[in-house]
Amino acid sequence: VRPVTLTRSYATSVASFTGQKNSNGKYTVSLIEGDGIGTEISKAVKDIYHAAKVPIDWEVVDVTPTLVNGKTTIPDSAIESINRNKVALKGPLATPIGKGHVSMNLTLRRTFNLFANVRPCKSVVGYKTPYENVDTLLIRENTEGEYSGIEHTVVPGVVQSIKLITREASERVIRYAYEYALSRGMKKVLVVHKASIMKVSDGLFLEVARELAKEYPSIDLSVELIDNTCLRMVQDPALYRDVVMVMPNLYGDILSDLASGLIGGLGLTPSGNMGDEVSIFEAVHGSAPDIAGKGLANPTALLLSSVMMLRHMGLNDNATNIEQAVFGTIASGPENRTKDLKGTATTSHFAEQIIKRL
Ligand code: NAD
Repeated sequence: VRPVTLTRSYATSVASFTGQKNSNGKYTVSLIEGDGIGTEISKAVKDIYHAAKVPIDWEVVDVTPTLVNGKTTIPDSAIESINRNKVALKGPLATPIGKGHVSMNLTLRRTFNLFANVRPCKSVVGYKTPYENVDTLLIRENTEGEYSGIEHTVVPGVVQSIKLITREASERVIRYAYEYALSRGMKKVLVVHKASIMKVSDGLFLEVARELAKEYPSIDLSVELIDNTCLRMVQDPALYRDVVMVMPNLYGDILSDLASGLIGGLGLTPSGNMGDEVSIFEAVHGSAPDIAGKGLANPTALLLSSVMMLRHMGLNDNATNIEQAVFGTIASGPENRTKDLKGTATTSHFAEQIIKRL
């Protein structure tokens, strides 16, 4: 067994924002408005930020993909903007089905090496669900696993899809999880896996977690099979409070939707795609084509993603102001909530109510 090469730089990657203020004394943030409901929820964010006087100038960037030599690429202007500003807020991007373009979401994560996807999920006070006190923190490996895009037809009727797990990517995301726990005074890291079946690939992920555990003696490492985690989380989400969960890509994708379901759905759950240099914050949900253009979209997930972004940038007072206004509006009753939360408000009415509470 090759020893883990220690990539110390990741140890400092928790909340390491290096963006500089612009000549207006504000930070410039790249904004990808997104497809489907993206424009509606991005407008809500912009209106609320304007009303809250957040010291941010938005730089709206176009990420319409182009195919260069059969590979999906992001326009140079978008890459330059995000590299310059170090931080972006992103609406959902639809993934075209079929041949040709690959997912822009994956392309962005790879381009900026956004190796850890941090997904908090917390019960919303004032919006009742069968579950109370959900407070989970899930970190999803963001660059490989089943998302490596290595798929091919072996012979007609037989395909292979390669799950790629590397020591390097496993180490950086698991180290991120340990550092995240340390920086927030949390004492437990839980690795969610399926090494009982995927002995070599998930086995490597587990092995790296156990090797790194020696460097973090104050943190308790435990491991759990993904199916067991699904069962236990639905039965008693409180079991996963105060635990940093870390897992390979696909498990994180699925388990975070399960967690969203416990608190009221995808309209509520934010995320941060964290890299060493650049971070991109986005809702867990997609472009919701079924409700796009109808004024039904809930902008909360994108707003809470922006709140994570503000905290990452050290703009804590602005973050708290917006967060409290959002939760205050949700708690104020169904007339001020969007349809996904059993309410009757349109996206713009909901945003207006938030603005009143700033
Ligand atoms: P989705 O997340 O877009 O929608 C799933 C369900 O949740 C739909 O019924 C939708 O109406 C509802 N929903 C989602 N967000 C909501 C919100 N803010 N307010 C109210 N209801 C909301 O998933 P999908 O339909 O499977 O995917 C649609 C497209 O989005 C696909 O092209 C997919 O590839 C893409 N996608 C993008 C991202 C991303 O940009 N990070 C993530 C997931 C899916």
